[in-house]
Amino acid sequence: MPTVQDLARLLEATAPLAYQESYDNAGLQCGDPQQEVRGVLISLDCTPVIVAEALRRGCNVVVCHHPVIFRPLKRLTGANEVEQTIIAALKNDVAVYAAHTNLDNVRGGVNDKLAEKLGLLKTRILAPQSGTLARLTTYVPDGPGYQEQGLADQVLAAMYAAGAGQVGKYSECSFRTAGTGTFTPGAGTQPTIGAANQPEAISELKLEVLLPLHRQAAVLRALRAAHPYEEVAYELMKLENTHQDVGAGLVGELPEEMNPAAFRQLLKERLRVPVVRFTAFEKSIRKVALCGGAGAFLIGAARAAGADAYVTGDVKYHEFFGAEGQLMLCDVGHFESEQYTGEVFRDLLTAGFGRTFAVLFAETNTNPVQYDC
Ligand SMILES: [Zn+2]
Repeated sequence: MPTVQDLARLLEATAPLAYQESYDNAGLQCGDPQQEVRGVLISLDCTPVIVAEALRRGCNVVVCHHPVIFRPLKRLTGANEVEQTIIAALKNDVAVYAAHTNLDNVRGGVNDKLAEKLGLLKTRILAPQSGTLARLTTYVPDGPGYQEQGLADQVLAAMYAAGAGQVGKYSECSFRTAGTGTFTPGAGTQPTIGAANQPEAISELKLEVLLPLHRQAAVLRALRAAHPYEEVAYELMKLENTHQDVGAGLVGELPEEMNPAAFRQLLKERLRVPVVRFTAFEKSIRKVALCGGAGAFLIGAARAAGADAYVTGDVKYHEFFGAEGQLMLCDVGHFESEQYTGEVFRDLLTAGFGRTFAVLFAETNTNPVQYDC
């Protein structure tokens, strides 16, 4: 049976914790990583009622979107709902795992699911992150013996397996140049080529690959394990490039343009929301930006991307100003914009673990907001 740790690794392969925002606290909230998973209850939020539902339905793991522990806890006395949730989970051996802004910031996450529900095509990340990529340069011997055994390909294959060489939908990307490497092994060394205190000049290949920074340790481990040298020479350069598949929000296109009222009707139906708060916009809607949850911080990015409409939640009165006439800013509610996130969790878990345990959607609706209309 997979353990809680296996479950965390599976979800983090799609939504690495390194991609969460600095203020966030995604990951395992409480519970024993070594505990075997008997069943998973999926919910947007984890509350005492959700923990009780998990127990009632035979689940010992809750996977949720919003972290239960968001600010550090100084005591656990059950004084508020957060403490009550953690106490109930710990007492009953229920592990709680949250994938939050790390799942917002990746392809195949919260926003792709919302875009799918709205039928958007040609989607791309609205505000790609920078500072997540590095370039690794290393050198392998290319003289007689090494060429035949395909050493360069072996070293590259090891680094690919550890997460290097991926550019968008292209894998195993690298660049190589031939040259001459020089070195003098010092006293007490056991060089693979040459002898101590003898200057050497040999044919080498320079290999370059891109990697996500958070895979740095794993890629360097793989490089050292696959490389024949006692001292492996490499350079790691952090890049300013944005990562096209990592970042906040999404922008795409409707299959056909719609008038603004018809688009709002689409939102109400697909997102099961009785009311949409919006800014006036006269033109038809084709290009749509979106961000599940509280996405007012991306209004400027949506305008800059040329979106006709921007769909998100939690927009404050003053944040609606400036959008008028520029785009139709649509507040559909925080919960409503993220309500399909559970399908992302279900699909990842069933693809990774098959039917080894039950994956259930919570029956409890955790949305505290009601509508009277
Ligand atoms: Zn949210």
